[in-house]
Amino acid sequence: MNVKKTLLLIAAGLSFAGEVFGAVEIKESDGAITICNSRASLALSRSDFSLRQIRDRIRREDYVKEPGGPLFLIALWDPKHPGKELNIPNWFNTTVDIVVDAQKATSFEYSKEIKDGKAVLTLKYRGIPVRTQTGLVDVTVMVSLADGSGLFEWGLSMSNATSLQLYEVHFPVLQGLASGIPGSETNDYVAVSSYCGGEKKPLPRSMGEIGQGGGEYPGIGVQLLSYCDGLGGALYFASHDPAAYRKTFIYQPCASKKAFQWYVIHYADQPGVGAWKLPYSVFCGPIQGDWYDAAKLYKRMFADKAWKSLSERTDVAPWFRDLSVWFQGYAFNGEKIGEGDSKDGMKEFSDKMVKLRDMLGEDYGFHWYLWQKYARHDYRYPDYLPASPGFKEAVEKLEKAGVHAMPYVNIRQFETSLPMWRDEHAENFAIRNIKGELDTSTTIKGVEHFADRDEKKLMGNMCFGASYWPNKVVDIERQVLGDYGVSALYLDELAGYPSFCYATNHKHPCHGGTYFAAGENKILRDIRALQEWGGKPPVIVGENTSEAYINYCDGLLNGHSDMRPDSLPIFHIVHSNHTTEIGTLVVGTESHDLDIFLSKLGFNLVRGRQLGWLNIYLEMLTPEFSKQLVKLREFCNVRRAGQEFLFFGEHLRTPVLDALPKVERKWEVGPCFGKVSYALPVVLGECYRAPNGEIGLILVNHTDKTHTAKIPWNTKDWGIAVGTKISRQDYGNGQWSKPISQAMADNLTVTVPAYTPMIVKIISDK
Ligand SMILES: [Zn+2]
Repeated sequence: MNVKKTLLLIAAGLSFAGEVFGAVEIKESDGAITICNSRASLALSRSDFSLRQIRDRIRREDYVKEPGGPLFLIALWDPKHPGKELNIPNWFNTTVDIVVDAQKATSFEYSKEIKDGKAVLTLKYRGIPVRTQTGLVDVTVMVSLADGSGLFEWGLSMSNATSLQLYEVHFPVLQGLASGIPGSETNDYVAVSSYCGGEKKPLPRSMGEIGQGGGEYPGIGVQLLSYCDGLGGALYFASHDPAAYRKTFIYQPCASKKAFQWYVIHYADQPGVGAWKLPYSVFCGPIQGDWYDAAKLYKRMFADKAWKSLSERTDVAPWFRDLSVWFQGYAFNGEKIGEGDSKDGMKEFSDKMVKLRDMLGEDYGFHWYLWQKYARHDYRYPDYLPASPGFKEAVEKLEKAGVHAMPYVNIRQFETSLPMWRDEHAENFAIRNIKGELDTSTTIKGVEHFADRDEKKLMGNMCFGASYWPNKVVDIERQVLGDYGVSALYLDELAGYPSFCYATNHKHPCHGGTYFAAGENKILRDIRALQEWGGKPPVIVGENTSEAYINYCDGLLNGHSDMRPDSLPIFHIVHSNHTTEIGTLVVGTESHDLDIFLSKLGFNLVRGRQLGWLNIYLEMLTPEFSKQLVKLREFCNVRRAGQEFLFFGEHLRTPVLDALPKVERKWEVGPCFGKVSYALPVVLGECYRAPNGEIGLILVNHTDKTHTAKIPWNTKDWGIAVGTKISRQDYGNGQWSKPISQAMADNLTVTVPAYTPMIVKIISDK
């Protein structure tokens, strides 16, 4: 057997001629216990179970540069005297000083078992003393490896005989990490999931002034970090938890600044003495590739099992599937904000929006702000109803014309000075911080959020685990649907910061647990079931991207939070076939410039999002925007023609377009972040796989000259081998070309006309 074939079999974990490649074993020698197969090995010290080495046995790459350190940190607390360390939990800052030190265990005992193709190592830390306490803590760590897998599965359980309660567990703490391959020290990075996609964070061994990184789940999109050596090797680090327990991912440099550590903080969902068990597993191990391969592994091993694909779902509204573009805004000009709106103003506005529908020749969605009673943003929530005068008539007119109205409702905030707050005893159902105070922060930095800066009225954040609040939100949406007949609902802050709640009168465990995601999912489920939809399939859109909610909503608005062309689409690479992302904001001042307008629209299209979140509906009616209008229509057509890829499909690795010239594009990258210059290839492109296996390249030329791209065919990630008989069809100018049969070449040559979006479809003839 040749080496290449052997490696392929090892990679697939298959057996050949009775021999299992990648079969697991546990070795004991030289003071170490090693759990391994032919893909990966993990070595621990026999004396204290500290980490010695994680090795990629295929690439022969070691990932532990500085061995040692305990595998966990357990923090205990006394709820009656939390102490100043246990202040309001803040961004990455839940440090406590009553810790269970693994290395102080009275004894370290282990057992091993190999069964059904899985090696399991059970590590027992017995009798760990805790300062000033009479009782002891026992901890059991389980680490396992399956035949053919390179990922080690970590579990932890403990018993606590002290009088303190469990606060949080950091586990597995993997210290001293960094690739040993020369050159990695200047090329490595951690790929981290964010609230809106993902980011590449360079040089985790030093990290400059930032100090640490990571993310709060379920606020961040996926439960995954990956460390990439920048040279073809990577470490995978993820929890596979479909219930969306509250947790935090951390990575930070070691003291030497020559290695880094990472761990997950698990917040105790059952505070109290006694037993506790981590309710899901964490996986870590070497993989070949980079962040993209880590995201695909996470998808295959976990996400595809936990969430349904859109093509499997039976509750997707046909209009939402076919919708290409969203506008956003409100009915009147900025000067009038806060004064409500007149019935005449609403009529004038709705007439213009119908005119836009006719000029565009395309149904569109309208994300409607300031429709509510006070017509003012972040003001007197949740007192939304009745709506501004004329809203009902305007919605009726728009819906009839093919404009889908989606009014804004905030899912979290409640103004504490409202009579409703007092009359409904809402204070009893708000989030309480660890000191029992009202949680009034709405940002991750804990800045107080005032409904009105002059009046200093606070917005309280409401608890999803207290039944009053989910019921209140559902009741508001019931009335919005019943009274106004809109076809979609928008829930702001759906994937916002996942606050902790310490209210003792709520029916959820204080601190950790699943109440945050479970409460939001209950809201979504109950809204979907409302009779007020009148037989129409429900459409719900939430803010930002988080997998925790995608079973019960239809779209996730990303338009204002990920506008950077250099962001990593980690969330989309995992979930593009499970949910729909919406938008890239183009602000008014950018939209006059066709280069900027089309580069942003192009980025939006190729990233697979429904287009727009455009706030330029009035401008679009003017002759100065006639080119923008024509181009927008063309982009809408391409999105619909490529529905199998862009709505139902799986986002694959980005085509290599480095051979094309680059142009400078200066973009507004967020409502508050200003403009950033990017050097972009003259043709933007992404690749997708439809549910039926067809491959689609979505390409956009955002310049005023025709360009021909020679795209290297990527068999590894796109799946059709060079030389295979294929048919190719191109979509442009509103139609598909006739299929042309050919052998798949090393390169795909595509000529993309100026300012034009197109699709190249490749069908394997096999
Ligand atoms: Zn609560």
